[in-house]
Amino acid sequence: MQGNRSRDTRPELAVRSAAHKRGLRFRVCTRPVRDIACTADMVFRKAKVAVFIDGCFWHGCPTHYRRPMTNSQYWGRKIEGNIARDRRNTDTLSARGWCVLRFWAHEETDIVVNRIMRAVRRQA
Ligand SMILES: [Zn+2]
Repeated sequence: MQGNRSRDTRPELAVRSAAHKRGLRFRVCTRPVRDIACTADMVFRKAKVAVFIDGCFWHGCPTHYRRPMTNSQYWGRKIEGNIARDRRNTDTLSARGWCVLRFWAHEETDIVVNRIMRAVRRQA
């Protein structure tokens, strides 16, 4: 399902290690809800917070995504499909009582971690 979500990208690692240093404890690359085929980058089970660090290309970042010149149609459909799936997963998890946080890989680590911390505290 998440074949194109590459594991352990650099922005993801930076956020994880900064969050860990600030005392947050979480599961990595796991399903928030067992029967929903959706893997989040960071999962806070008790607080029910799921974090996704979305790659700018694969998830269609409005600032950095440019459709490749070759196989343009293929890529257009592929990325649109990813965006639609992201939205579906967000909706499904939210409906199950999860707080879903989505960040772009280009966002600044400290800002991302601050928002995660606030969400985890709020839900705890
Ligand atoms: Zn971006």
